[in-house]
Amino acid sequence: MFFQLSHKIELNPNNTQEGYFKKACGVARFTYNWALEEWRHQYEEGLKPSALELKKQFNAIKYEEFPWISEVLRDANSQPFTNLGRAFVNFFKGTGKYPVFKKRGIRDSFYIANDKFQLDGFKIKIPKLGWVRMREQLRFTGKILSATVSRIADKWFVAINIQTDLVPAVNKSHVVVGIDLGVKQLATLSDGTVIEGPKPRKALLKRLRRLNRSLARKKKASSNWKKVKLKLSRLHMRIASIRNDAIHKLTTMLVKNFKVTGIEDLNVNGMVKNHKLSRSILDMGFGEFVRQLNYKAKMCGVEIVQADRFYPSSKTCCQCGFKKDNLTLSERVFRCESCGFEIDRDLNAAINLEELAVGSTVTACGEAVRPKQLVRASSVKQEFFIIPANGQE
Ligand SMILES: [Zn+2]
Repeated sequence: MFFQLSHKIELNPNNTQEGYFKKACGVARFTYNWALEEWRHQYEEGLKPSALELKKQFNAIKYEEFPWISEVLRDANSQPFTNLGRAFVNFFKGTGKYPVFKKRGIRDSFYIANDKFQLDGFKIKIPKLGWVRMREQLRFTGKILSATVSRIADKWFVAINIQTDLVPAVNKSHVVVGIDLGVKQLATLSDGTVIEGPKPRKALLKRLRRLNRSLARKKKASSNWKKVKLKLSRLHMRIASIRNDAIHKLTTMLVKNFKVTGIEDLNVNGMVKNHKLSRSILDMGFGEFVRQLNYKAKMCGVEIVQADRFYPSSKTCCQCGFKKDNLTLSERVFRCESCGFEIDRDLNAAINLEELAVGSTVTACGEAVRPKQLVRASSVKQEFFIIPANGQE
């Protein structure tokens, strides 16, 4: 079995190389916008434009009308047609928005086909440019499909797409675990393990607020405004990388130690609507958690069972199955009105998710995994069923 992954590596370009990157992004943006405008124009005239046709038309005139595009690699002026074609396909399928013109400085990037670049340890060779230093080596082996160079704040990255073989399971463990992602802690596992996540935004919030205020006071697009804007995007990047690092560690730990992991439906959009919660949730990067967990599970040959949105993992008593009508977020301890059981709220949810994971595995895999072969994480460490005396931290 094959699957694709993308490894994003920070680049360390010198000034000339950075100039080239900017130019290549500019060519990609220009070409995309040219194609989109032409598409709209032809569509209005009753024609049926296609990415391939537009590319032919562009190629016929490009060196004469836009000679400067040949200063950078050819992919920069050919891939945008593929991208635009795909954007229209998604739009017509109803899975994407109507394509809009690209703006300078927003998602600047350019594509490099796999036969156009070379990797050598900490270096990547880019056409018409040469070797550029990378801050780390490619961590995966497999067939290299393509690369995309992009900019975030004032840093440059290359994302290398690889098709790789399924990596065999690291651990032969048959343990099933449930995990509850929280606002207070990053995660609570059904075996009682609590993982404190960094909440970078909270710590850096003050700086973020100050910069935002300062930006609002500056004249838009002035040089001071640009300076603050850059500081702000650097700060956002720093926050994101602290968070991503924590999520990487957590997801790796899960796939290495557990055969089956039950997670809740994180319905991030719904949760973010709750304003009180939104900041912490964005800090935690739940969407990124699910993405990483899924691809790592494939790599390690373990299973992820995701509860559907209506599965009441928090409201159900993990001891007797009684379901509460209401459970407010401030109730940190779950008290069962039916059997009198008391347990930490997040742990209760995690155990319910483990329960669900055990159930789903049996039905999904039939003969392959029988419940007897699976060990429940929550049955291993019973001693954790101790709750804080006052229900607080
Ligand atoms: Zn109960």
